[in-house]
Amino acid sequence: MTHIFHRTPAQPLQVALRGEGCYLFDAHGRRYFDGSGGAAVSCLGHGHPAVIAAIREQMDKLEYAHTSFFTSEPAERLASLLASQSPAELGNVYFLSGGSEAMEAALKMARQFHVENGEPQRVHFVSRRQSYHGNTLGALAIGGNLPRRKLYEPMLMPTTQVSPCYPYRYRQAGESDADYVSRLVAELEQHLLELGPETVAAFVAETVVGATSGALEPLPGYLKGMREVCDRHGVLLILDEVMCGIGRTGHYHAFSVEGVVPDLLTLAKGLGGGYQPIGAVLASDRVVGTITRGSGSFQHGHTYIGHPLACAAALAVQREIIEQNLCAQVRQRGEFLRGQLQERFAHHPHVGEIRGRGLFQAIELVRDRDSAEPFPASQRLHARIKQAAQSRGLICYPSGGTIDGVNGDHVLLAPPFISSEEQLHDAVAVLAGALDESLSSLT
Ligand code: PLP
Repeated sequence: MTHIFHRTPAQPLQVALRGEGCYLFDAHGRRYFDGSGGAAVSCLGHGHPAVIAAIREQMDKLEYAHTSFFTSEPAERLASLLASQSPAELGNVYFLSGGSEAMEAALKMARQFHVENGEPQRVHFVSRRQSYHGNTLGALAIGGNLPRRKLYEPMLMPTTQVSPCYPYRYRQAGESDADYVSRLVAELEQHLLELGPETVAAFVAETVVGATSGALEPLPGYLKGMREVCDRHGVLLILDEVMCGIGRTGHYHAFSVEGVVPDLLTLAKGLGGGYQPIGAVLASDRVVGTITRGSGSFQHGHTYIGHPLACAAALAVQREIIEQNLCAQVRQRGEFLRGQLQERFAHHPHVGEIRGRGLFQAIELVRDRDSAEPFPASQRLHARIKQAAQSRGLICYPSGGTIDGVNGDHVLLAPPFISSEEQLHDAVAVLAGALDESLSSLT
């Protein structure tokens, strides 16, 4: 008997009782390797003593002070630390309590920037198909995750989507990576011209796509090309690194290897590492300067923004990531993980592609490797794998609709940065067993 309106009430859930390092333990004492960090959240694993101590220490001093009256020490320190890890022009931090809130704030910042900049007609947001930016109405409206949008479609503000950068599915036969990138860049430009570029506020993209299509990384030159198109037309670039940011790809900011700097960057999951709900927008000097010189304040706010406990936890998480040089560790373990995935799945008849960066990797599943035909959506292969893996003690993040919102399946892995090679080896072995069990259960 439960009084919680669970996500899927008919689906019984185990009770998570405690966490330790990379493992979660349920009420029956069963142990699970947190191979997806929940949803790419638990970067430091569970029960980290320095983070817990920081939360306790802050709790003893101050639990809350409203941000219209006060700033707080942990919020100031965290903002300084984030600024120190970011390009100089991106050193303005606005705190939120999660990823969707961060996206909402970024959309509003973009809008207010244009109004204060004398271009109030810029109201339109362009994003990409096969993307996810959150479940609140603004964030959902710019997302290209069809199943999550469908029910609420009549309530969503009008937005438009261009193609994802998804070579495995959408690069044409004989097309080089460079030609494919040029085609996508030209598509965005044409799209803006059709909309009337003077009406467009921002282009929004996940630097590396997470849950919707499974660790889809941008091809070289893609984001740079998209940035140039945005610049030509006065359109802001919002990069969503809620899932792929803060070291997950082996770089503190995933965009840092793409030769671009966004106007607005959103962060969340790895920021607090699950120890507290927290998100942030990092905004450029140009955006913040224009708003500040204009009406003087950002027309937004929530009761819990910049919460001292959340900031204290995130500060401790970030210090650990930086002081322990965990980005380098993620790159090294990421290579190891890729090697394991290659070993197990490179010749697997139902794995079409292995992709991703750092400790953010996925396998895309296919019925037939040669044609890349997916399994029928009705078989819900992803759901079978999730269940089979969990019953074998592995938490991973499988999803369906990989290709177009309906068809395709993938499994996303996003283990804690502290995962050992042995743990990664074992996790991949368990995933292989869960995959084969799920495949043999198909009707
Ligand atoms: N943006 C991306 C890329 C995400 O993956 C998510 C969540 O999965 C969100 C935004 C929304 O974040 P939250 O669930 O914290 O609201």
